[in-house]
Amino acid sequence: MNRAYNQQYGCNFTAVIPTNVYGPHDNFNLEDGHVLPGLIHKVYTAKKNETPFTVWGTGKPLRQFIYSIDLAKLMIWVLRDYKEISPIILSVDEKDEVSIKEAAEMVVEAFNFKGEVIYDSTKSDGQFKKTASNAKLRKYLPNFNFTPIRQGIKETVDWFQDNYDTARK
Ligand code: GDP
Repeated sequence: MNRAYNQQYGCNFTAVIPTNVYGPHDNFNLEDGHVLPGLIHKVYTAKKNETPFTVWGTGKPLRQFIYSIDLAKLMIWVLRDYKEISPIILSVDEKDEVSIKEAAEMVVEAFNFKGEVIYDSTKSDGQFKKTASNAKLRKYLPNFNFTPIRQGIKETVDWFQDNYDTARK
């Protein structure tokens, strides 16, 4: 459709494709939120109530997570400097893909949670991996520094704790 608008009317519309986004101000609802805010909310509750922390599935699936602040910077770059009509994937490098287990462990560490962690393999793992190439982005921005996921998770956990009463959950 963007190509058609460009050909017929000269419009400069494009599309961005982010991978799994996380960060402050997310939807932390357990039913309809995405995995990282879900894990953060669950560890918060487990720590407060001294109950186990349950991760859905085996923890083995792999995902590329992008910090919302990094995505915001890239969106502004797209608006200002990306001139192509064809879409661009906004993602961390393939080497920065992490397992759900690694992500869950980083959340546990950020909360300094010492309780039991359970992997509920009766729950679905979903797709094993959804690896996306950011080669096109890297061609334009070879030096863009993504926030390391450990740091992004720590900042999100701190935000959630500081804003628990008003956070979307
Ligand atoms: P989502 O859109 O963020 O839920 O991401 P995906 O569906 O791509 O992958 C989520 C992965 O995390 C799946 O393997 C789930 O089994 C796993 N998972 C573990 N705990 C949770 C949780 O509390 N919430 C969600 N949404 N997924 C979880």
